[in-house]
This record gives sequence, structure tokens and C-alpha cells, in this order.
Amino acid sequence: MSATSVTITNVRAILTAPAGIGLCVVKIETSEPGLYGVGCATFTQRLGPVKSAIDDHLRPLLVGRDVDRIEDIWHLCYQNSYWRNSPVLNNAISGVDEALWGIKGKRANMPLYQLLGGKCRDGVAVYRHADGRDPQEVLDNLLKLKEQGIMYIRVQLGGYGGIGREPRRPDGALPGAYFDPDVYTLTVPKMFEYIRSKIGFEQPLLHDVHERIAPIEAVRLAKALEPYRLFFLEDALAPEDIDWFKRIREHAAVPLAMGELFTHPLEWRPLIVNQLIDFIRVHISDIGGITPARKLASLGEAFGVRTAFHGPGDVSPVGHAANVHLDLVVQNFGIQEFSGFPDPLPEVFPGCPELRNGYLYANDKPGLGIDIDERLAAKYPVGDVGHVIEWTQSRWPDGTITRP
Ligand code: MG
Repeated sequence: MSATSVTITNVRAILTAPAGIGLCVVKIETSEPGLYGVGCATFTQRLGPVKSAIDDHLRPLLVGRDVDRIEDIWHLCYQNSYWRNSPVLNNAISGVDEALWGIKGKRANMPLYQLLGGKCRDGVAVYRHADGRDPQEVLDNLLKLKEQGIMYIRVQLGGYGGIGREPRRPDGALPGAYFDPDVYTLTVPKMFEYIRSKIGFEQPLLHDVHERIAPIEAVRLAKALEPYRLFFLEDALAPEDIDWFKRIREHAAVPLAMGELFTHPLEWRPLIVNQLIDFIRVHISDIGGITPARKLASLGEAFGVRTAFHGPGDVSPVGHAANVHLDLVVQNFGIQEFSGFPDPLPEVFPGCPELRNGYLYANDKPGLGIDIDERLAAKYPVGDVGHVIEWTQSRWPDGTITRP
């Protein structure tokens, strides 16, 4: 190690829930006074194991190492557990990876997008989510987003489940988040028919299936939605069913976006190299951070697949900043999901990307350009948030447990 190298002196996980959603952020401190970085490690459904992976395993592994060797450190963390590739471990690695990119940016006195090759665009187009209990309410909410300048809008009837008759449950059915896939697949095309009849075809519309239906129903739904000219159909299949994308492709000219649950390269590789999807929409911290995400984006570029990184409320603002820096530099950028920064997130995370007229903007500060105010973050403890998750206890009308 050269005498001038800057080394890692501490790695720790910070848990906070300023907007009611548990977030995990990694802070890396260094041998240079005042120089540190932050990274997103939010797996909100399993915060404790991620925190333990960081504090108990990555910290002792990384203290004393050279902050500049990001690629080496990424692979070190990835291989060190021997068994690798899980959302828990990938999130822990992401926190380290993003923090190190932030430190490198500060050392270079450049925003991350400069280090990654410079801007391909100046603002990042986002999509936002409109839902409602009936097609008219969805349309009303869509028009409100349009008035705010949002160009791309995802329309959902009753969240992700569709809406209609109350499921008829058998006696003794267990409690859970019930939904009826039949009602869903019947009502969603009707919603699109209604909205297109009212606003025409120029407005880009998206829809998320949330992997909630049987594969053959996904084929049928894609065919039914073809006439409504979707910008994309999101997560039509579960990762377990990706072989079925070939069938959807054969039957419907509908742009397909896939991958918010992906954690393993073998999940996305066949879909990209066989051009079976049009948008790859991984959750960046779930695949291990900026380092693997930029490689994934390059793989997509070679095969005409655009990016659409996952951007819900359980990505911390630090993770959203990482999304935006990547979106700015990736030639094959498609769209960015964005869930907004409800108060008090902008105060707890100074430097949040800004949304103006349908585009997100990163700031020009060195590194990720975002920080965490730890004193404020401590005022919003995670507590019981996320200990028992209700919405993932999904059941079909007869009570069968199923994917959320
Ligand atoms: Mg989704």
C-alpha cells in the first residue's frame, strides 16, 4: 500500500424510517479526516440481517483496505461468504460499493456521473403511479400527475390486485392479502380501454403485473393489452417463470420490462442475450450496487435492452441518487421509476435529486451528492417497522398462499 493511500477506518449500517418505511444506509469512514461515503443497502423486509452482514462481517473484512480499489473490494465482498448471491448479502455489498464510489467522487472532486463517463442527457425522465378503485378514479389521478408535469404514468386498478367482486373464501380461510387473478385479468384491459377512449393514444402508459398471474394468463393479458399501446408491461412473469417470456414475445408486440426481483446474473442474462425483454428494471441495491449495475447496463446496450431501474419508496434517497447518476450516463437508458421524497426525507437526506417538469436532476456536488443527517435520522427509529410484513402474505380466493 502506498504511503498516500486512503484507507477504510469504519463501516457501519444506519437504520432509519423517516417516512414510515425502514431504510438501511451504509457509512464508510476513512483515514482522511472528514472524508466518508454513504450507500444504499435497503432491503426493507429484512433490515436486521443486512445490518448484521455489514456490521458483523463486512466491517472486519474491510477496515484497513484502500478506498480506491472498488472493483477488487466488490469481488472480495461477493466471494468472501463462499455462498453468494442473495438479496441480504447483495444489499450489504451495495451499501459498501455506493459509499466507495461516493468517496472516489469526493477525492476526484467530481460528481459520480462524471467519473462514469459523463452525461448522455441532462435530466432523467421518470414514471409515476396512478391507481384508483375504478377506471374513472385512475384517470382522475393520471390527469393530476400530468398537471404536475409527469410524462410517463403507470396505471393500476386497485394497486396491484385488480378490483371487483369480493373473493368467496372457504370456511376457515386464513387471514391474508387476498386477491383474485381472474378479476384482475378481466378488469385491467377494460381500464385501458376506458382510459384510451378518454385521452387518446399519445400519453405513454405503463402497467405492472407484479408477477401475480399464471404464466399462460400473462400471455393472454399481453395479447389483450396490445391494442392500447403500452410504453411497457412490467414484471409480467415471476423470476421462476422466465422461460415463458418466449411465449409472450411470440404472441404480442408489447414492450416488456422485467426484473425488480432479480438478484442473480443467470436471471437476466438469457432474457437480454435472447432479446426477450425490452427494459431491465433491477433494484440496484439488490444486485450489489453501482459496480454490477453499470455492467448490466452495458450488457443491455449490446442487445438493445434499455434500463428502467426500480425506484419505489423502499429505495433510500441515497439509492435514488445512485439510480439518477447511472441514468445520466447510460446510453441505453429507458425510464426511471420514481416514488417521490415525502417529508421529512429531503431533510434527513440533504442533496436529494430534484424532480422538475417530469425529469429528475442530480446535483453537481462531488460523489453521489447526497448525505445522511445522522442526528435527524436517529429521530425516526425503525422500531417494529417491517418486522412482520402484511402485504406479502398474499392469498388466492380459496386461501392458497401465493406470490405478492
Ligand atoms: Mg414493479
